[in-house]
Amino acid sequence: MGQKEEVKNLVAAKSETAVTLAKQIWKFAELAYKETQSAAAMVDAIQKEGFTVDLGIADIPTAFTATYKCGSGKPVMGFLAEYDALDGLSQEAAKAEQCPIEPGGSGHGCGHNLLGSGAWLAAVATKDYLVKNNLDGTVILFGCPAEEGAGSKQFIARAGYFDNVDFAYTWHPAYLNRVSSRSSVAIMGANFIFDGIASHAGGAPHLGRSALDACELMNVGVNYLREHMIDEARVHYAYSDAGGTAPNVVQAHAVIKYEVRAPKVKQMKELFTRVTDIAKGAALMTGTKMKYEIAMAFSDYTPNKTLAVVMDECLKEFGAPEWSEGDYKLASDMLRSYPKQTQLTVFEDLAEIFGDEDLEKIMRRPLDSTVHPFDPKDNRYESGSTDVGDVGYATPTVELNVATACLGNVGHTWQNTAFSCSPIGFKGMIRAAEVMTLAAIRTMEQPELIEKAKKELLKKNGGKYVCPLPDYIQPPIETY
Ligand SMILES: [Zn+2]
Repeated sequence: MGQKEEVKNLVAAKSETAVTLAKQIWKFAELAYKETQSAAAMVDAIQKEGFTVDLGIADIPTAFTATYKCGSGKPVMGFLAEYDALDGLSQEAAKAEQCPIEPGGSGHGCGHNLLGSGAWLAAVATKDYLVKNNLDGTVILFGCPAEEGAGSKQFIARAGYFDNVDFAYTWHPAYLNRVSSRSSVAIMGANFIFDGIASHAGGAPHLGRSALDACELMNVGVNYLREHMIDEARVHYAYSDAGGTAPNVVQAHAVIKYEVRAPKVKQMKELFTRVTDIAKGAALMTGTKMKYEIAMAFSDYTPNKTLAVVMDECLKEFGAPEWSEGDYKLASDMLRSYPKQTQLTVFEDLAEIFGDEDLEKIMRRPLDSTVHPFDPKDNRYESGSTDVGDVGYATPTVELNVATACLGNVGHTWQNTAFSCSPIGFKGMIRAAEVMTLAAIRTMEQPELIEKAKKELLKKNGGKYVCPLPDYIQPPIETY
């Protein structure tokens, strides 16, 4: 039996458990840092597989490692699992019209129930391969909460959990099958808190110092900054406390939240400093006091190119998930559930990937049936951010995408929640587990490749992981 067949069998043997797990976590739909039942379900299922669990790592109650060591324990292979849901995206499973299970409730609109259970399945199948073939190695499943919140992987990395990991593999549910070469950008979020002096806005305006004015001047300053920053950078803001609702009271206290994104951590930090300088200027102009509290930060993600090639080969060997007529029907109904304007934009985006001629045919059966090859020359950036980036600065890391939804599916929607508990979602999850397992085995067999991947990492991180957050920032478990 070939290696691919062996992996297929090992994954198939545990896939029912993984699907049950994915369904459970989908139902729990727990938000960032509150994934108690989801983490417990993952931990319980992996303990039954003989892994040793450490729950509550890096001061995050719902973060864990599950470790299985064989022989010498080398190499050490990590799989990254996520399991947090999103607010307001409750939706019935596999249903193409909006039907929340609980109106306003949370739902798995990013498919992290599939992500976590797929990583679980890959970790277990890789362990089973080591045991069956009497090989050396350690498999660690990292339970990583709150990817949609302020993250966890940067705290887990800062606590040193990836220091002895030789490589880490993960995946994210998607609508394409590919190992993307695109990077995601670094981000830092902070609250800027202004304090002034309250007074009667009509009777004694000269005695007041407005914290709200300071926020507004900060925004004006940042608007001028935007012209003098790199194209790929982004700066967003939201008022979290505008100082009250009374126009006749000079606002003594106001808080504004800023998020700064740039392709590289270094660029992001420089830009963040410029934003804080503007905040200082706004305080000076208004006679108020300013302090800021950093709330979150992620490093940029770039796939380790050496290992991305291995993952890409494994994905090509397995190919796209095998879709049924029922799957195509659901995908097509779901696609049509999007507003007309969204559908038109989706078609334009897909024409860039599939070409104009085939598009019409493809859209009649809108599930990705191809594998899009890894292109190491495509160095573009996606403007999203993920804490997988931090793992990528600590150990060679690659993220795989497998289709779990219709072509053009929009993330963070009720449609995405519906797909995340559907036959389409489960097929994608199982295929992802097969590909990651085979990739881990292939990587493990080639120590020279691991060395090459580590050299690539050394160039990127200079020898060690540096957390983008200052040391005093702790995971915002209660406050996020
Ligand atoms: Zn996600």
